[in-house]
Order: sequence, then structure tokens, then C-alpha cells
Amino acid sequence: MAEQTESESRKLLGRLREALADDSAGQARLDRITHLIADSMQTEVCSIYLFRDEDTLELCATEGLNPEAVHQTRLKIGEGLVGRVAKFTRPINAANAPQTKGFRFMPETGEEIFSSFLGVPVQRLGERLGVLVVQSKEEREFSNDEVYALEVVAMVLAEMTELGAFVGEGAALSPLHKQPTMIRGDIAQEGVAEGHIYLHEARVIVTNPIADDPDVEIKRLNEAVEMLRVSVDELLENAGTADKEQLQVLEAYRMFANSKGWMRRMTEDIARGLSAEAAVEKEQSTARARMAQVPDAYLRDRLHDLDDLSNRLLRILTGQGQHTGAEMPADPILVARNIGPGELLEYGRSLKGIILEEGSVGSHATIVARALAIPLIIHATRITNEALNGDHVMIDGEQGIVHLRPDETVVGAFRDKMAMQADAQERYSSIRDKPAETLSGEFIQLDMNAGLMADLPSLDNSGAEGVGLFRTELQFLIHNKMPKRAELASLYSRVLDAAHTKPVIFRTLDIGSDKVLPFMKPQDEPNPALGWRAIRVGLDKPGVLRMQAQALLRAANGRPLMVMFPMVAQFEEFKAARDLFLREVEREGRLGHSLPGILEIGAMLETPSLAFAPKQFFDLADFISIGGNDLKQFFFAADRENELVRKRYDTLNVSFLSFIEQIVERCATSNTKLSFCGEDAGRPLEALCFAAMGLRTLSMRPASIGPVKHMLRRSNLADVRQVIDDARNNGVQSVRPSLMEYLKST
Ligand code: PEP
Ligand code: MG
Repeated sequence: MAEQTESESRKLLGRLREALADDSAGQARLDRITHLIADSMQTEVCSIYLFRDEDTLELCATEGLNPEAVHQTRLKIGEGLVGRVAKFTRPINAANAPQTKGFRFMPETGEEIFSSFLGVPVQRLGERLGVLVVQSKEEREFSNDEVYALEVVAMVLAEMTELGAFVGEGAALSPLHKQPTMIRGDIAQEGVAEGHIYLHEARVIVTNPIADDPDVEIKRLNEAVEMLRVSVDELLENAGTADKEQLQVLEAYRMFANSKGWMRRMTEDIARGLSAEAAVEKEQSTARARMAQVPDAYLRDRLHDLDDLSNRLLRILTGQGQHTGAEMPADPILVARNIGPGELLEYGRSLKGIILEEGSVGSHATIVARALAIPLIIHATRITNEALNGDHVMIDGEQGIVHLRPDETVVGAFRDKMAMQADAQERYSSIRDKPAETLSGEFIQLDMNAGLMADLPSLDNSGAEGVGLFRTELQFLIHNKMPKRAELASLYSRVLDAAHTKPVIFRTLDIGSDKVLPFMKPQDEPNPALGWRAIRVGLDKPGVLRMQAQALLRAANGRPLMVMFPMVAQFEEFKAARDLFLREVEREGRLGHSLPGILEIGAMLETPSLAFAPKQFFDLADFISIGGNDLKQFFFAADRENELVRKRYDTLNVSFLSFIEQIVERCATSNTKLSFCGEDAGRPLEALCFAAMGLRTLSMRPASIGPVKHMLRRSNLADVRQVIDDARNNGVQSVRPSLMEYLKST
């Protein structure tokens, strides 16, 4: 048997191209391909096995085995040598196949007379499509060159988009891309949505896997790699003080971009007849297949880097930009591996939902998705591989489930669920302009939380009475450099304009912990939630806080202004921050700016310590807002970002409710206005209990106002209070079960 030289494999690819272009029927074309490969590799057998479903391979074409076995012989993934090639996505090269581990005899194929076996995976970007096999009678191992050559051929085969149609009697494939698929992820923003997939980074399409002139292709590859290197260097230069991990990723990019092995393998594949694009994609496929099998997270990340780098290179080579011109559907559900907050803002509210393969609950993109109230599922494994532009999709942000290409039953059930929610929304909009007055006659003020200009229209739509928390850090988080005072002043002014006469409470910059500014040096802290964050940073490095104070005062320009400081842990901190702010008021006055007619300065109560601050604190603060997210995390010592403990302690735990009651009482004694602005304020049962404990102002996401108001309007606070007191007296841990029982009976 002849060694497979480069020019021979180029010849084979040339003939293959003809076979691929030929418009004979699918099966005939596949038969011709197996014939060509066997002929060119000088083996007696060439067979193509394709996945029929996720675990079954089917013999779809053969030269040399019994033709009757085509579409009859099937194997499970992992079964026999063919099944093992598919399972481990690695070639098997055996001189004596029957004596090789994993061999399974398939009498119907008549293969017992063939001794040597070479099988390579057919895969496209990490998606397993099947196995390509050559066999011969002579007992010999195939040379490395022959293995590479067959891999190159498998790569070209994988590019045949209609490959799937060959399975069975014209049965529909491509199995992995046509079937309904359910993917479980984690919930980052609740809500349900139905729409069609829009890929953030559409896949680059390689239309020319085979090339005639390797010299031209190698030149194209070299030029593209050079451009890639320059762009990576630029990224590194511009990264400046980017965080350590980002720098590490860029360094890894640079390492790969300069990797000799990577270049060598791609050059060799081109010499065998692949186009530059196909050579890059072949490397990428190998990296993806390995990625799926590497248990070590660090290594997996590195392979991931290589994958991203290959994408960049493909975009340079094909001239296909970020967006390949795929049209945005009318009801887009965005799919991305990960996305930055700025990019997400560009899509804005046009999105019906977002599915990320990575992402995290506390990431900036999540913060933005929450602010825009767009359902977001994160950690949706393989979604970028599974989803294609335009696929029908339903996301259930209450269960953390993505239904991709759902079947009729799922569609029916899901639409019922959406209809029920729509009914509820209708009910809520009918009470939008009515007060949140309970059956026992108490009025509860319902405000909304905001952080972006985009939130402001909700002030009218939701029926909120004001903005109880404006998170100013979002403006800082989504920019790559420190915003200027004039920019902030203009934004804050537009916020006040949009609110008309409704009150807005601005919270000064709350950074640190999970919120790391892209342009600030990250602190390597062992416990960031308990670390240098919020007002602690503001007082230690007062420049930003002062600048923010000036921007707020100029934005108010004589109008009333309410400001509060985050994470105040003791009276002294509040005093210092307040003094700093008042000094700025004085300075602005000296400079001739008009000062707010009414200025209220408050504090967020987010640490248990502040609840026990001296009376003087409660007297000095114009108002207090309970930051329940942080307060609960510190009260129960349970990290709000840690999935293992985040939901371990119930907000309706009697200890927590008693603690809230104490804060209410302390504020009542000093006549200090009090509100609650953590996520729990937006949950109807929790909101009801807070009201029963004496809170009269709650601030929440705009979408929660309807459900909370509905709950309050149908409740008698005295009765609810009785249920809570009974639970406390009975030594019950959480009020939830008895409250649910009570609500059922009313
Ligand atoms: C809170 O902690 O409850 C809060 C409102 O602030 P954030 O969620 O922004 O930390
Ligand atoms: Mg907080």
C-alpha cells in the first residue's frame, strides 16, 4: 500500500470536490465518495457511519463491505471500534482489528476478512456527526500521514450540510440540529418568553473547504495570522489595568497566536488540499472535541481561548464580521456564550429573552438584563452549538429551562402558562392607578428600583409612586473608563426630568464585592462581600464620591434631591459621608450653582450593626432604606451569590421578621422614614409580611409592583400579623406555611 503523500491527498480532495458538486442523488453521491476514498487510500474498504440519534450510529455507505448492511447495521456510541472512535472523538489505528480492545464482530457486514482498521471522527465544530473508516486485508498500521489525510477528508465530509439526510430511508437528520432539545440552566432573571433564536456571534460559514493552490492558501493563512497577532497585541496594550483574569486570557491568546504547533498543523492540512478556513476549522473542531472531555477547568478554559482565537481567525479569513447579516427575528431570543453589559444594552429592550452558555448571577450583563427585565438563563450548556439562527425557542425563567425547537405538547403547555401570566398582567394593569390599600385600611407606598435611563418609562407603566433606589453604579459598570462629572450630571438630570414630580432616591456608587469597575485596579480580597466596598471605598478614596455629589447637585439644579449611602455599618461612617456631601453643597453654592430646595440624606441599612446604632444616627438620617439583599446575607451569614446557600434561609424566617420589626420600631421612635428596597420587597408574600411588621414603603422591580399591589389589596394586615405572631409563639421556624394556609382560606 502506497504512503499517502501530500500531493496524493490533494488529488483525492480534488476528486472529492467533484463528487460533492455532482448533483446525483444523496446516496449515490455518498457511495461515490466511499469509492473514491478507498481507491485513493488503496484500501479494500471505506465506510461512512453517521449518527442516527444521539447514541446510535448507522452504516450509511460503504465500498467493500456487504452492501446489504447499509442502513441496517447500527451500533451504540462506544460499541465496537467505530463506536469508540465516535465516543472518544479520537482516531483508532489498528493493524489487527479483531484483536484490538473494544472490537465487535458484525457478521452482516462481512468484515471478518479485513485485518487493519483506521477510523476517524467526522465532526463539525465539536459536534459529532459520525465516523469515517478504511479497512484492508493486509495486517499493517496506517502511517501518520495516512491518518492525517483521512482526518482531512473527514473534515471536508463534515462540511456537507446535507450529510444528515443520508441516514435511513431518507429519514430526517441532522439529528442534533432538528430534534427538540431541552437544556437546563440557572435562572439569572425570571420570566417566560417565546421567540426565535438570534445568535450574538453567528457562526462563520466555510463555503470552500477544498482549495486548488496550497501556496495561495498558506499565504492567506499567514497574512490572517499576522493580522490576528497584531489585534491581540493591541488588545493587550489597551487592556491597561484590566483585571488579572482578563489579562491572563489575552496572554493565552497571544501564546496561541504565536504557537508553532498550531501553525504547523494548519499548514500541513493546507498542503493536503484544505482551504485556509477549513484548516482553521479543523483545528477548532479538535479543540472543541477535547474541550468536552477535559475535566480540568483550567485546561478547559485554555482550549476555550483557542476556540475563540480560531473564531477570530475565521472572521478575518472569510471577511464575515460579528454579524453575518442574519436577520434579527421579530421576537429575538439572544444566544451567546457570554456577553458584555455594553453589548447587551445595545440590543436593549428589543430582546424577548437571553440564553447564555456561561454568565453568572452577579455579572454585569445579568445586572443589565435584570434592569431591562428580560428573562435570562445562564449556564445553558452547549446552547451555542445546538441553536441555529431562527430556531423556535421557549424559555422558562421560572424553572431555568430552555425548550429549543419544542414539540407540540411542550408548545401547548408553555403557551397555557404564558396565557395565565398574561391574564394576571391584565389584572395588574387594571389596578395600576389604584393605591396599594389593604383591607384593614393601611396605605403602602410602592416604589420602583432603577439603574438605567431605560428603566424610567416603567415609572408610569408600572404605577410606581417614585424611584426608591436608583443604583448609580450601573453607569460606571458599563463604561470602560470613569464617566465625567458633566456626563453624570446630564444623566441624573434626565432621570429627574423623567420622574416629573415623583421622588427619586439616588444611591451613591456601590462598588466592590461582585461589582468590579472595569477601569479600577481589582483588589485581591479573600472575602469581597465583607471587604472594601461601597461607602468604605467612597470614604477612603473620596474623589469619586465628591465628583458624584457635584454631579447630583448640578442635576437637581434647585429641584429636591434625595441621596443615600450604601453599606453603612456604623454611625461614624454615615456622619463622615454626610459631612463630605454637605461640604460639596457648600462648595457648589460658593461657585454660584443653584442648590436643591429640599435635600434629604439617608443611609442604607444593609448590615445588622446599623440596626443597633445609637439613637443619634436615627435622628440624623433623613431616611433609611433596608437593603434586604445584603442585610439578609449578613444576618444569616449566607453568601447571596453562592448557589449552595443562597436560598437556604427563608426571608419569612421568624428571626428575620423580628429583626425587621425592631428596625421599624427604632425608626418609629425617632420618626425616621423607612423603606425596604431589596429583591424580597417584590415578592408578594414577603412584601405582605413586611407590611404586617410595620413597613409602609417598599421599592422593587417595576414588574413586581402589580403582583405585590394585588396581594396587599386583598389582605388584612391585622390578620396577617396575627398569623405571624402565632407562628412566633409556636416556635415555628418560618411563617411561610401558615401564611400560605391562611391565604388559601381567605
Ligand atoms: C440590597 O443589598 O438589598 C440592595 C438593594 O443593594 P444591591 O442589591 O445593589 O447590593
Ligand atoms: Mg446592597
